[in-house]
Amino acid sequence: MQELLFATHNRHKAEEIGRLLDGSFRLLTLDDVGVSEEIVEDAETLEGNALLKARFLYLRTGKPCFADDTGLEVSALGGAPGVRTARYAGEECDPEKNMSKLLEALRAETDRGARFRTVVAYVDGKGEEHLFEGVCEGHIAESRRGTEGFGYDPLFEPEGFGGRTFAEMSMEEKNKISHRGRAVSRFVQYVKGR
Ligand code: IMP
Repeated sequence: MQELLFATHNRHKAEEIGRLLDGSFRLLTLDDVGVSEEIVEDAETLEGNALLKARFLYLRTGKPCFADDTGLEVSALGGAPGVRTARYAGEECDPEKNMSKLLEALRAETDRGARFRTVVAYVDGKGEEHLFEGVCEGHIAESRRGTEGFGYDPLFEPEGFGGRTFAEMSMEEKNKISHRGRAVSRFVQYVKGR
C-alpha cells in the first residue's frame, strides 16, 4: 500500500484524516517516522505554513508528504485571527482562552459571519508542490455549545445546519462539510487519480 506522510503530531487530526483516506493509503505521522521536533510555523499565510511543514518532512524522508494549516477568518475582525488562530489568546494555544477572547471581541457585534479555511500542501515523490483549499462558511455562536471535536468547535455554526455547532455534530457529519474535509477530499481525489 502506498505511504503518505503527514507532517503533524496531532493524533486527533490524523484520526480525522485517516477516515477520509478510507484505507487507500497508509498514513504515517511525524511520530510514526521518528521526527519528534516541532516545526516552527512562522509564515504569514496558511499556504506558507502548510508548505513549510510539508517541505520539511519531504527533505527529511524523500517520500510523498503533506501538511495542512487552518485559520478561522471572522468578517467583523477583518479576517482575524486567520493564520494566528491557534495562538489567538497566547502562545499556550489554549482553546478555552481562544474562545473567550473571540466572544469578547464580538460582544457588541451583530455581524457574526466567519469561515474556516484549510490549505493542504502536498509534496509528491518528485518534489513537486501542490496546494488544495477547503472552506466552510458559518457563524460564531453567542456562547459555547456541544462537547465533540476540538479547538473552536463549540462556537462555530456551519451554514445550513440549523444553527448547530461543530461540537454538536458527530465526527462523520463534520468531516463531510468541514473546511479540512473539503481540502483533504480534493487532495485525496488528486492522489488517487495519479
Ligand atoms: P491547524 O492549522 O489545523 O493546527 O489549526 C489551527 C487552529 O485552528 C487550531 O489550533 C484550532 O484552534 C483551530 N482549528 C483548526 N481546525 C479546527 C476545527 O475543525 N474546529 C475547530 N477549530 C479548529
